[in-house]
Amino acid sequence: MSSSKVKAHKVHLLIEEIPTIEQMKKSFLELYDGWKCPSCGLEDETFDHVWTCDEHRSLLLKIKNNTIDLLLSLLFEYNPDITDYSALLTLNIWTINTDPDNFTFVDLIKGFIPLELTQILNLWIPRKQLLLVIIEIRQYIYEQTFKEIWIRRCSFIKEFERSLGITKKKKLTLKNFRPFNNILNSDRELEYKFDALDSIRNNIYFGKNIIEFYSNLTS
Ligand SMILES: [Zn+2]
Repeated sequence: MSSSKVKAHKVHLLIEEIPTIEQMKKSFLELYDGWKCPSCGLEDETFDHVWTCDEHRSLLLKIKNNTIDLLLSLLFEYNPDITDYSALLTLNIWTINTDPDNFTFVDLIKGFIPLELTQILNLWIPRKQLLLVIIEIRQYIYEQTFKEIWIRRCSFIKEFERSLGITKKKKLTLKNFRPFNNILNSDRELEYKFDALDSIRNNIYFGKNIIEFYSNLTS
């Protein structure tokens, strides 16, 4: 994949706009109406669901554990004197769920680097190495979740659509001509968006976990 495509995908992750089924309903409601998550077949496939779906849980646990292993080995490389990693390992970022009040592993998948993480690393290694560690960790999470979860899911959907005779051309003829918000009762979705904004606002106002940086990390 070209670097511009990788960058575009990272930005879409950051703003939660990867083409999930729920996202596709906004453009092709007639086609995807009633479709559920292609992995579990039970829940609506929203952005958060992709990463919290029960069917992906064991894979995500593996990716999370490998991320921790990689992080610890990098830290050891830069500072072999660290004896107690508990401050790092007890952070909420290692939980695989979504939480409006705390950054979780799903936020790391989006590309967010919580301040609480950089603050801890800052105690142990110099800033230059800290940046290298963050970039490597972020890239690792991106590659693993993209390859193991998202690409697999997309291949499955592609095959499934082909079996139903759904082609690109057919999709275009079924594109919604009215805005999605007029078609669906979107109260729930609006509520969700406000919740998400509130949580970011709270994090910024009350300084719990401010997103310290993300520029340079998307390229
Ligand atoms: Zn699912």
